[in-house]
Amino acid sequence: MTLRTTLDFLLNDWLDTAALTERERFTDHNRETFGAVLDTCERIAREKYAPFNRLADVEEPRTVTEPDGSLRVVLPRATHDAQKAYAESGMLSAAQDYDLGGMQLPYSVEAAANAFFACASVSMGTGLLTTGNANLLMVHGTNMQKEVFAKNEFSGRWSGTMCLSEPQAGSSLSDVATRAVPDGADFESDPLGPRYRLKGNKMWISSGEHEINENIIHLVLAKIPDADGKLVPGTRGISLFIVPKKMVNPQGELTGVRNDVALAGLNHKLGWRGTTNTLLNFGEGKFPVDGQAGAVGYLVGQPGKGLACMFHMMNEARIGVGMAATMLGMAGYYASLDYAKNRPQGRPITGAGKDAAAPQTRIIEHADVKRMLLAQKAYTEGALALELYCARLVDEHHTAGGEAAEEARLLLEVLTPIAKSWPSEWCLEANSLAIQVHGGYGYTRDFPVEQYWRDNRLNMIHEGTHGIQGMDLLGRKVLMEEGKGLQLLAHRMQATIHRSSGIPALAAHAKALGRALQDVSTATQQAWSTGVPTEALANAVPYMQAFGHTVLAWIWLDVAACALDNDPKQTELSTQGRVGCARFFFHYELPKIGAWLGVVQSRDLTCASFPEGAF
Ligand SMILES: Cc1cc2nc3c(=O)[nH]c(=O)nc-3n(C[C@H](O)[C@H](O)[C@H](O)COP(=O)(O)OP(=O)(O)OC[C@H]3O[C@@H](n4cnc5c(N)ncnc54)[C@H](O)[C@@H]3O)c2cc1C
Repeated sequence: MTLRTTLDFLLNDWLDTAALTERERFTDHNRETFGAVLDTCERIAREKYAPFNRLADVEEPRTVTEPDGSLRVVLPRATHDAQKAYAESGMLSAAQDYDLGGMQLPYSVEAAANAFFACASVSMGTGLLTTGNANLLMVHGTNMQKEVFAKNEFSGRWSGTMCLSEPQAGSSLSDVATRAVPDGADFESDPLGPRYRLKGNKMWISSGEHEINENIIHLVLAKIPDADGKLVPGTRGISLFIVPKKMVNPQGELTGVRNDVALAGLNHKLGWRGTTNTLLNFGEGKFPVDGQAGAVGYLVGQPGKGLACMFHMMNEARIGVGMAATMLGMAGYYASLDYAKNRPQGRPITGAGKDAAAPQTRIIEHADVKRMLLAQKAYTEGALALELYCARLVDEHHTAGGEAAEEARLLLEVLTPIAKSWPSEWCLEANSLAIQVHGGYGYTRDFPVEQYWRDNRLNMIHEGTHGIQGMDLLGRKVLMEEGKGLQLLAHRMQATIHRSSGIPALAAHAKALGRALQDVSTATQQAWSTGVPTEALANAVPYMQAFGHTVLAWIWLDVAACALDNDPKQTELSTQGRVGCARFFFHYELPKIGAWLGVVQSRDLTCASFPEGAF
């Protein structure tokens, strides 16, 4: 099975993406136009990304000091070419309106098309941050901000970043210390938005400096001091600003003045080395604007509402992270499958023991190697289905209208922490298994699998760490709006259970899913039964692991039911593959939830109460 055949099955047979074309927004589309987008992306990924994945890893970004003292970032030529080809394909604005140069493509098709790039070379990058940045401005920006900044990002002329983290404020964004003060008496009358001067340091900023395109549009979280010059504690005081690297006028032209944003240095990372990661100093006076220190920034939305605006970008980004993790896992799966089919080693165990004189067998014939391959297939194809399911919910939320749109919004609230975290953990495990299948060769740089693992290791860290996602799920998402999101999810799972109960190959799995759902529900209640957050949340990650495995069991059951609907006799190998993955997941994975839920249910404080000195 290729990535394309898997995507086609999930989009066409399972999610019935063609049904979206009955909605007004998508009437110009049909299965062929969706297929053409996938064809184009598959080709560009194959030609411009895959051949250079190792090069981007080896030729890490480096800096050159310019005569004015600034640092210029050097990236391989291949990265410039790849991103240019991506921008020219129109994918940066794929989901946007026609009059913005977009294709009015459903998000589910856009996400599927982007999967090819993440599989070919995640770190060379496409423009996920740029698209997310511009999408945010389309929702929260003024007409002028959309026209000047978002439009030029969608066209690929400029690129975008998100600048949240600071050295002292990572998970805890309420501690952001970048300050923004009004820039002059006329600060409110700037056509590009209320104008401020920003000072502060932003850490870990991806694509924060490069010369791939003409300008970089930073979206920066900063606090506006109160009348006493003090920063409001907590997230309430956080506002959002557009800070261009190079100053622009309302016509969208560069003015020739550089903004006061300086690259302090590059972070040298374990993986994802094709993307620059930067420490940026805002407003330190290295590039004064109008003779004054302070980076010029334009307020987006209302003061104090910056984090809420940024969340618009972060939710999209979280599905994007889940997809990247999935595709890295899948790249490793394909590489190790190919290796296992070709590597002769050992002999089969027969009734009479081993025959040392017999030729060696290929390692794919060993049961344990098959176990490792099947685990990878189940993790990565299951994760892909989950990501596309969530992408389809985004389409429902935006275009279904009425109750269906509202239902999709609530389901997304509950599923987003899983969509981000589950692939980050289990597709990383898939990468580890891909190395294991290669034996010693997998541990060398002669094969690609070690790079996939290194690249994937990031995904449990950024866009909200694993721990933060767990707390978001158990502390907020399953409780919000009186648990309505969780109830809706349970409803959908029950529908799949009902449907599968009548299918002999799936009936036992359906029962097991019913029990798992009940166990998750009981654990959720027990965790909160004393109403003490420190007790409830002490085991938020095991809770998220159990919740995630239950979601994935449901996804696999639903996918297998769909495959069997089309091919009840399992004559196709692809059907056998899907039903086999469901079986693997129910036999080898779902039983793990017992241990995870046990500590949640008993509000086990073994970790939380462990004395620091005893470590
Ligand atoms: C390669 C890379 C790219 C990145 N790109 C960007 C970017 O483009 N823009 C951007 O703004 N940021 C970016 N980040 C930053 C990233 O989002 C942060 O690293 C992340 O939010 C964690 O913050 P931190 O590193 O300060 O770790 P910390 O917040 O210090 O966390 C350290 C550990 O403590 C745990 N922890 C922290 N607080 C709690 C708590 N309250 N309860 C329980 N556990 C807790 C965490 O789960 C984690 O395991 C990037 C990071 C990396 C490594």
